[in-house]
Amino acid sequence: MIGVFGGTFAPIHKGHLRLAMAARNQLRLDQVRLIPAAAPPLRAAPAVPAARRLRWVELAVAGERALIADGRELRRAGPSFTVDTLVELRAEHPREPICLLLGQDAAQRLPRWHQWRRLPELAHLVFFHRPGVAPLREPVTRLLRGRRARSVAQLRARPAGLWWRCAMPPVSVSGTEVRRRLARGLEVKGLVPDAVIADFTKKDLEAFAR
Ligand code: ATP
Repeated sequence: MIGVFGGTFAPIHKGHLRLAMAARNQLRLDQVRLIPAAAPPLRAAPAVPAARRLRWVELAVAGERALIADGRELRRAGPSFTVDTLVELRAEHPREPICLLLGQDAAQRLPRWHQWRRLPELAHLVFFHRPGVAPLREPVTRLLRGRRARSVAQLRARPAGLWWRCAMPPVSVSGTEVRRRLARGLEVKGLVPDAVIADFTKKDLEAFAR
């Protein structure tokens, strides 16, 4: 079973890594693919280029065999729609269960995603709490009705179409907070992997300050 975890990763931080590892352990995933959005459709273009964001994901997952930095959205033109990424992955893995991993804030915004109602045809949806984010509501709850998996075994038994909630100790870090700290010249040790911090250039720090 494959986990798919998309985001801007500007930069990748410990919240992302905790989520990916919680998913791997609780769902017994063979791999979690971390996929930076080259051109996030629903927010302003990140000040840091996608190639740098992918590089930090690569550095962050080095040494964790189950976590894979996947640059496929950098190789596509136009907005980085998750539905297109899932269609590609489904073609590569026709029968394998795929779990789309979503923090609660991303889950709440699902109705704004391109062709969001198709997502359950392509993958299971797996949700993670995020501190300070309210519960899911209509129309997401309506799309999910009747699709709740009763066990991880049920998720593993079919390629897509169910949903599940993973438990995760709250991690309050966000990309916004990391960028704000860096822009003010504050430490981000403990919030961002050391190898990523070591890779920040003057140009990256200037971009974070924008
Ligand atoms: P920003 O502050 O720039 O919006 P972010 O920290 O929210 O960044 P993203 O790359 O936009 O990070 O998020 C990618 C995914 O990771 C989303 O599904 C988001 O909900 C999830 N996520 C990020 N940080 C956390 C966290 N601390 N706890 C749980 N989920 C998280």
